Amino acid sequence: MDRYHYEPLRKRMVDQQLKTRGIENDNVIDAFLRVPRELFVPLAYRDMAYEDMPCPIDKDQTISQPYMVALMTELAVLDRSKTVLEIGTGSGYQTAILSLLAKTVYSVERIESLLDKAKSILDQEGYLNICYAHKDGSTGWEEHAPYDAILVTAGAEEIPERLLKQLKPHGRLIIPVGNRSWQTLWLVMRIEERYQRQAICTCRFVPLLFGTEY
Ligand code: SAH
Repeated sequence: MDRYHYEPLRKRMVDQQLKTRGIENDNVIDAFLRVPRELFVPLAYRDMAYEDMPCPIDKDQTISQPYMVALMTELAVLDRSKTVLEIGTGSGYQTAILSLLAKTVYSVERIESLLDKAKSILDQEGYLNICYAHKDGSTGWEEHAPYDAILVTAGAEEIPERLLKQLKPHGRLIIPVGNRSWQTLWLVMRIEERYQRQAICTCRFVPLLFGTEY
């Protein structure tokens, strides 16, 4: 199937799943119209690339529902001067979206084979403002901190203190927190030395795990 086959599906996803639910930032919408999501889902699921649901990828992980990726991206309030840390590269789809909106994306993944696959697609597609690491991201990536935004794309039991410390003043952390079945998506804004929390919605992510694997 060539690329043109997916263009109307992508536009329909943006209209029906994102705009109708209140995603309205023009740059975010434009990024979703540009990134070919079909490249980031396994071949067997390519027909489902623009469906309104998460989709399995390798190693029992998932590529998030398009709306959830859009919501987290919009909450990050990015522009070309901003740096963002993504914890959980997974398929690399959200990484591609962030790469079109930020100056630099730092993306960490605990499963090396997923990271390698995502990186090879992203390199091939010309997303070049991304730095990758195979590491446990529950402690962030201190070397490049502080960040304007940190997005955690796996569900945590609590908000890791060390992530808060890696936010710039006015930085934004977006993180699902809860148990293995359900989480609440939180937006935490750093205001100087204080942190202001806002619950956004209920969500369901794969768990944030400790350590690394291959
Ligand atoms: N944004 C991704 C989401 C992938 S699912 C996408 O839409 O494709 C979440 C990812 O987080 C999985 O790939 C999982 O391996 C990874 N992950 C879980 N715990 C992690 C941790 N402590 N550090 C880094 N990555 C982690």
